[in-house]
Amino acid sequence: MSYFSEFTYLAASILFIFGLKALSHPDTARRGMNLAALGMLLAIIGTLVRHEIVRYDWIIAGLVIGSIIGAAMAIWMPMTAMPERTALSHAFGALAAALVGISEYYRHGAELGTFKMTAIGFEVMFGGITVTGSVMAFAKLRELVRGAPITYKGQNIFNISLFILTAAIFIYLVFVPAASVLFYMMVGLAFLFGVLLVLPIGAADMPVVMSLMNSYAGLASAATGFALSNNVLIIAGTLDGFSGFILSILMCRAMNRSINNVLFGAFGAETSAAVTQNDGVMRELSAEDVAVQMAYARQVVFVPGYGMATAQAQHAVRELADLLEARGVSVKYAIHPVAGRMPGHMNVLLAEANVPYSLLYELEQINPEFATTDVAVVIGANDVVNPDARDNPKSPIAGMPILDVDKAQSVVVLKRGKGKGFSGLENPLFFKPNAGLLYGDAKISLTALVQAVQQAD
Ligand code: NAP
Repeated sequence: MSYFSEFTYLAASILFIFGLKALSHPDTARRGMNLAALGMLLAIIGTLVRHEIVRYDWIIAGLVIGSIIGAAMAIWMPMTAMPERTALSHAFGALAAALVGISEYYRHGAELGTFKMTAIGFEVMFGGITVTGSVMAFAKLRELVRGAPITYKGQNIFNISLFILTAAIFIYLVFVPAASVLFYMMVGLAFLFGVLLVLPIGAADMPVVMSLMNSYAGLASAATGFALSNNVLIIAGTLDGFSGFILSILMCRAMNRSINNVLFGAFGAETSAAVTQNDGVMRELSAEDVAVQMAYARQVVFVPGYGMATAQAQHAVRELADLLEARGVSVKYAIHPVAGRMPGHMNVLLAEANVPYSLLYELEQINPEFATTDVAVVIGANDVVNPDARDNPKSPIAGMPILDVDKAQSVVVLKRGKGKGFSGLENPLFFKPNAGLLYGDAKISLTALVQAVQQAD
């Protein structure tokens, strides 16, 4: 039995590694998900046949309830709520790790050796922080809690002191595991710290917070693996921990911000930021004006952003693109790494509308092409096309790589009104002489454009 169990764990670990590798490219991402899911199934089967299991009723009840909740979330939560869904999944995973740690301590308490106590300490500390941190992230994204950073004087010092206190209790417990009051105090402090850590972070930074939480949940699982001498938990937890951490770093790099700035910078709070003064005027366009520009263009580049996600306009973009291609116009899509609100947000939405991957261009590939593009159509994007990031060293987003749409002959921006982007900054692009605005919900504007292009002849 135990050989079978170890074999399934080995197979599951290999599948997780291949799954992760495949997830790194949109073409193979779906296969990556399937491989990882198969790996998880094998890990569950390998665990269910272990001889340590004395009764199955509670396990079966847990499996049924968990499967129902998981399936309902996967089927009915819309794509735009994906960040919230991920936050909840992390909270559940971390809660499981923290509860296992608490039960191990409850069962063995004072007899725990240094190694096991260290593993259990990590497990409940990272698990506790992740549970409440993820629930806070969920609440901010759902606007159950104010999304703007919630700050107060001395906040960072207070948080760091609390973390040091929690870590000090942990170290003491490693040497004196019998101090059960301190153990439960440490658990309580970890839960509290998760709330306080996320409070000063703005809602739009939640994807970075969540990939960090993903990393913590992974480390908690790896620690659980050490506490229970379970290899697959150690391997999967470590993969999860490090991939989450790398993803956080990549997201920060794409925004040209440090992880410290995300965690402690209260980004998105009111600022008197230096923005380029705009002397120009915003030029309003009609769907007919834009349709004529596009219908007779050689190349049109679509630049999707967060507004495309909220409008669910991906199918309408595809329809318009098909129409233009049928007229001989070359159509491309420019994908900024942090467009939208989660990594790969635009890729996921465009894939849902069956836009071929070969038409998606990353920032470095498409930027040199804007100079020879007739029309760049910005669909609900703002910060990722803000030229201040490139031209104004005093801008809070200075240095963030942007899509150089302003270099196209004509720029058309689809947005509802004068709303700002996630950074809360004004965008000088909208005032440039080669730019015009087509106001309205992106899906409605694109549908109007489809009709206008059909009538363009
Ligand atoms: P953005 O800067 O947030 O701008 C979105 C724009 O869409 C707004 O100006 C808004 O203007 C417009 N909009 C909203 N709903 C719309 C609708 N229904 N129809 C048409 N337009 C609509 O978006 P972005 O350019 O994609 O930039 C993403 C931002 O999120 C960046 O600052 C990035 O750093 C940040 N971020 C991203 C990630 C990630 O992983 N992707 C993670 C953390 C932070 P109106 O209100 O006037 O319509």
